[in-house]
Amino acid sequence: MGPDPASHLAALRAAGLYRRRRVVEQALPGARCVVGGREVLNFCSNDYLGLAQDPRVAEAMAAAARSLGAGSGASHLVTGHQRAHHALEEELAAFTGRERALLFSTGYMANLGVAAALAGRGDTVLEDRLNHASLLDAGLLCGARFSRFNHGDSDALERRLEPAGRGRKLVLTDGVFSMDGDLAPLPRYASACRRHRATLVVDDAHGLGVLGATGGGTVEHFGLGAVDVPVLVGTLGKAFGTFGAFVAGDRDLIDLLVQRARTYIYTTALPPAVAEATRAALGIVRTEPWRARRVLAHVTRFRDLARHAGLPLADSFTPIQPVLLGTPQAATAASEALLGRGFLVTAIRPPTVPEGGSRLRVTLCATHEDADVVGLVEALAEVLSEGSDPTLSPTADPPDVGEHVQGGQSGGA
Ligand SMILES: *Cc1c(COP(=O)(O)O)cnc(C)c1O
Repeated sequence: MGPDPASHLAALRAAGLYRRRRVVEQALPGARCVVGGREVLNFCSNDYLGLAQDPRVAEAMAAAARSLGAGSGASHLVTGHQRAHHALEEELAAFTGRERALLFSTGYMANLGVAAALAGRGDTVLEDRLNHASLLDAGLLCGARFSRFNHGDSDALERRLEPAGRGRKLVLTDGVFSMDGDLAPLPRYASACRRHRATLVVDDAHGLGVLGATGGGTVEHFGLGAVDVPVLVGTLGKAFGTFGAFVAGDRDLIDLLVQRARTYIYTTALPPAVAEATRAALGIVRTEPWRARRVLAHVTRFRDLARHAGLPLADSFTPIQPVLLGTPQAATAASEALLGRGFLVTAIRPPTVPEGGSRLRVTLCATHEDADVVGLVEALAEVLSEGSDPTLSPTADPPDVGEHVQGGQSGGA
């Protein structure tokens, strides 16, 4: 880190790690959007079921805003907890098969709140190494002894739980890993936690609504329940297409969060219109299971085509399909080359992923057409086989000049 902002920024640029926001000028139906004045196909959103643009969800939000207003006006413990929030909590509890659910403003805040309420000084928090940043921050900030175990390694978890000693033990994991798309081995994590009297918290931001026979997520996929995973975190900004998050669990857990989770207590309740929109989205998740099936059919199609084209695939059967490229420069260059072909796929670089793990994070959505998936794989194959261009080779050294990088960073179109 540089001593001042300017040199810190210069160091980030030199390392290929400078981040730049892309203005999406307009979201269009069918996973399309306008970027740099051009219509492109979006292959990196988390709107897996296509509900963010669904007219029924948008209309529920608009109607609720007209009748209930734009904001909640206060935190939940003052006067912000409205009928819409309460109804959504009851519906989320039913959807996840838990006694209760509690709304948070974001998934980030839900995770901070859970860890702080369930662990502190003298306790132990253990996390999968590839957990989402919000879970890692939650573990670090709660004041407990904190350590990470190797990705997906339940034996490593067990070895850390063994000597954890007195105090509460909390194990935090993603259900679907957000940058890799693979699943946590929840049955093994759950039995390790049971043996060592640890509490398992699963953040299923990317599994809920998509995996499991009824969209119940990774927990349902594995045939587990509330006994195995007593604390379930879900977000509403991904498959549900709106905004916010929730924690589901038993009565006492939720009551404790209301008493102790500072990120619940000291913040304004979501706008009730967001809660009403989410109720509409939840209804669609329940009544239109074809959406999840369609996403998963796209996953199969993508993987078959990509394997045929010799693309480097990861071990994922979820809508998150990383294409590993190695260096940040290679990932950025491939992303820019794809954008030139009309496909929006963001490059993911450290520290979001480990050093050497820069990638394109392709996501598939119900709103994609079969032909869109075919087109993406063709474009990917072209971009990655342009071996004459060293910046695009997965194994290439970082480019010195990086024309692609510079050209791309100049703004899109
Ligand atoms: C996106 C995400 C979050 C954060 O949720 P927000 O509601 O966007 O703050 C938390 N955990 C995981 C695994 C995520 O992917």
